Amino acid sequence: MSEEQARIREYGAPGIVITWEPGRCQHSTNCVRGLPQVFDNQARPWIDPTGAGVEDIVSTIDRCPSFALGYRTEDGRTRTAPSE
Ligand code: SF4
Repeated sequence: MSEEQARIREYGAPGIVITWEPGRCQHSTNCVRGLPQVFDNQARPWIDPTGAGVEDIVSTIDRCPSFALGYRTEDGRTRTAPSE
């Protein structure tokens, strides 16, 4: 994986920071189909963390199979890729 692909991007909004590591993404589109107001692969940037509420974002990211997507919520929940 290149350094650029391994770099984790962050998209912040009140209550949550969404993280995305492009090199892990398997393009399963669970996120785009699950919450298109936030995850729009035609838009740049493709993640809009203000597009839905924190709970909807968390439950959608929890279904990302590759752990490309993660989050940190204001109330202390986190999702990060398991260490390899
Ligand atoms: S759900 Fe995860 S693996 Fe699938 S397209 Fe979204 S970020 Fe990529």
